[in-house]
Amino acid sequence: MGTDMAAPGQPGCTSYDAIVIGAGIQGSFAAYHLAQRRRDTLLLEQFFLPHSRGSSHGQSRITRSAYPEEHYAHMMPHSFRLWQQLEDEAGILLYSLGPDAVLDAVTLAQRFPGLRPCPGEVALWDSSGGVLLADRALRAVQDAFRRRGGTVRDGEKVLRIDPGAVITVTTAAGLYRAPRLIIAAGAWTNAVVAPLGLRLPLQPLRIDVCYWREKEPGSGGAVTPCFMAMGLPYAPHGIYGLPALEYPGLVKVCYHHGSPTDPEERDRTPPGSPHPHIALLSNFISSYLPGLEPQPAVLESCLYTNTPDGDFILDQHPKYSNIIIGAGFSGHGFKLAPVVGQLLCQLSLGEEPSHCMAPFAISRFPGVLRAAL
Ligand SMILES: Cc1cc2nc3c(=O)[nH]c(=O)nc-3n(C[C@H](O)[C@H](O)[C@H](O)COP(=O)(O)OP(=O)(O)OC[C@H]3O[C@@H](n4cnc5c(N)ncnc54)[C@H](O)[C@@H]3O)c2cc1C
Repeated sequence: MGTDMAAPGQPGCTSYDAIVIGAGIQGSFAAYHLAQRRRDTLLLEQFFLPHSRGSSHGQSRITRSAYPEEHYAHMMPHSFRLWQQLEDEAGILLYSLGPDAVLDAVTLAQRFPGLRPCPGEVALWDSSGGVLLADRALRAVQDAFRRRGGTVRDGEKVLRIDPGAVITVTTAAGLYRAPRLIIAAGAWTNAVVAPLGLRLPLQPLRIDVCYWREKEPGSGGAVTPCFMAMGLPYAPHGIYGLPALEYPGLVKVCYHHGSPTDPEERDRTPPGSPHPHIALLSNFISSYLPGLEPQPAVLESCLYTNTPDGDFILDQHPKYSNIIIGAGFSGHGFKLAPVVGQLLCQLSLGEEPSHCMAPFAISRFPGVLRAAL
């Protein structure tokens, strides 16, 4: 929708109640919540949708309630309710979950013949844990946004933001104005906010997304639950896996760390070791998932955008209170996107946020304000 405001002799300018930059999962949910509150909203995306250049593509993400940090554990039941709401609205399945228990090594191996834990190791089974169908979820929230009257303009990179009581956003194709702006630009956030005098401590990382083939098709090697390896004596913290879903017989096992990159250069092969964590994953596969080939059958890429403390950034711009920033999801933001989107929407409308925002404040990082470019 939007309202055309073309002054004589000026390029056309369309006005909205709100503009969101970035149609990844966070920006899409922020736009959805704004549209749900009947705000005429424009969602701008630099690439044509769907795309695989950011952080929200792929078919699967882990969801879980088990979180070491209390603030995320408190947000998860809320997030599940909102996922359920979207699932009902969209009329399609967006996630699948499992039952509850603590399993010792023997029970775990009996239940999941593909997993070979060491004696004495235990698994905590989180009944709220499971797989979120990521691509499907992203499409569902964007469709729901459109159904509520929202406008998506893809293939339109934001080139310039002029702050003010009414913000002007310039893309390669047009000029848009709104009294509030949400920036959810993933690994490109610093490129978008630098001209607004802000430099956030965000580190984009290229993540190797690895899929491992069953040695003997149908032997049970691919039968695994979602798992996260923590505190194991013979494996580093942060290896995680998901059952075969994207590709038949191929289990997704990845490392929760990556190599620093520029999002524009993600696919350029870095000098030295191009995939530094494959050996570590291969060792893990040999020990814990012996039914799988210890070399990846498929290797894809994705981007994390990490903060120094691993907590998200959800806050107003320190100088422009009508510009809200959602960034730094540090490789664990998908499951929480429905709540993140709602918090970004609440911040932009001046509403009381539904959760404590202290862990997400920009002020926890000193010295982020610079001279505007
Ligand atoms: C391999 C991998 C596994 C993961 N596993 C999990 C998991 O199991 N569980 C979990 O909860 N989370 C997981 N995550 C994290 C989760 O996927 C991310 O936190 C989430 O997708 C981040 O979404 P986003 O919207 O911030 O970023 P993005 O999806 O990157 O969206 C940002 C968008 O902004 C657009 N943009 C940028 N600049 C501009 C501009 N100037 N103009 C217009 N548009 C612009 C980009 O093109 C992009 O589409 C994983 C991530 C990866 C990479």
